[in-house]
Amino acid sequence: MWNREVETMRRRDMDALQLERLQRTVKRVYDTVPFYRARLDGAGITPDGVKSLNDLRRIPFTVKDDLRDHYPFGLFAAPMREIVRIHASSGTTGKPTTVGYTRADLDMWSECVARLVTMAGGGADDIAQIAFGYGLFTGAFGLHGGLEKIGASVIPMSSGNTEKQIMIMRDFMSTILVSTPSYAMYMSEALEEQGVKKSDLKLRIGLFGAEGSTEEMRRQLEHRWGITATENYGMSELVGPGVSGECTRKTGMHINEDCFIPEIINPETGETLEYGQTGELVITTVLKEGIPLLRYRTKDITRLIPEPCACGRTTMRMAKIQGRSDDMLIIRGVNVFPSQVESVLLGMAHISPHYQLVVSKSGYTDVLEVVVELEDDALLDSFGQLETLEKSIKHKLHVVLGLDAQVRLAEPKTIERSTGKAKRVIDLR
Ligand code: ADP
Ligand code: ZN
Repeated sequence: MWNREVETMRRRDMDALQLERLQRTVKRVYDTVPFYRARLDGAGITPDGVKSLNDLRRIPFTVKDDLRDHYPFGLFAAPMREIVRIHASSGTTGKPTTVGYTRADLDMWSECVARLVTMAGGGADDIAQIAFGYGLFTGAFGLHGGLEKIGASVIPMSSGNTEKQIMIMRDFMSTILVSTPSYAMYMSEALEEQGVKKSDLKLRIGLFGAEGSTEEMRRQLEHRWGITATENYGMSELVGPGVSGECTRKTGMHINEDCFIPEIINPETGETLEYGQTGELVITTVLKEGIPLLRYRTKDITRLIPEPCACGRTTMRMAKIQGRSDDMLIIRGVNVFPSQVESVLLGMAHISPHYQLVVSKSGYTDVLEVVVELEDDALLDSFGQLETLEKSIKHKLHVVLGLDAQVRLAEPKTIERSTGKAKRVIDLR
């Protein structure tokens, strides 16, 4: 373990640590950020009024629009001369949200990442190839800092240029790959095309994150690369990657609870749910200085696992993200997550792990079409086999989703590959 004291802390001690840090954070934002002062005043909360962790529930939520409304620096809680780094989200859904880090924030960030790399089995002997994009996006820099901290040899490849990635991976004998799961999948295909065998490589650990993936995807990645595939979670508003990560037991991602207090809420009512129930993840940062966030609604759907893990760590875990609440499709009144479709497709023969959901309207009716790519040319000439495959996919989707979907089989290598986050949903409605 990278930080045994924190990672195996007794619940009582963790609660006390969180409370003390929460109180400091509330005071900090109350004193320095007009937005928070107004919000807290409006809710009748003064910094002295936070007496227990239960008081957290009285604090109003912060949402992405609050960050946008105060774009770019309006929620910073430290003067600019103390800010040493600025990042922003990818801005897929509008103006990007900006975050600033003080020197202490950068230390905290790499500490959090150092823990998750260590729990995934990484160490100073590893050679880590970072295939996340460097730039405003937090992914690459986050892993970079943590990997350097544990003493691994870091290769700052950045994303894209797949051929070169593979050449470097082989020549530099990379042992860790940092990327999105979908890019790792794409790279594994390119590997075959370049005639490189997994035995030519020294890769042993995948540190995957920044997008959702299923257990089926993990199995395929482990098989194709011959590695242990672990997952980690984060978002730029909170810090970037480093909020949580999996240990080698792969039974949920350990949350760095000394820095982030997790809650699960019912996304419709805002009510706090019990541990174990599925809902929207809400995070309060308690150690950040640059831009602390109180009860930030992540929009990510998951559940919390409070029981200590078989690895010996006592920190709360979060289950795989089921989807983002804004990724959830409502089709003819039924809730559908792309992850459900993925769990069906990736278990099946003859199809590649690349797929897309296209949603459209026919009159007033929603139509879901699942585009599935064939793995190779083998079936292309056999109409009978294609039809059987299509029927079987349709049937399985019906069982899992509870609705009828159209299935379109696409020729091999026709669905667009991504070197970052995959685009799974095209909503034409
Ligand atoms: P943006 O919102 O612009 O994409 P980020 O690049 O910070 O901003 O992405 C954060 C989001 O990425 C999270 O809210 C979550 O939806 C997704 N994400 C990150 N890690 C994971 C993961 N392990 N599983 C599922 N989703 C993830
Ligand atoms: Zn564990």
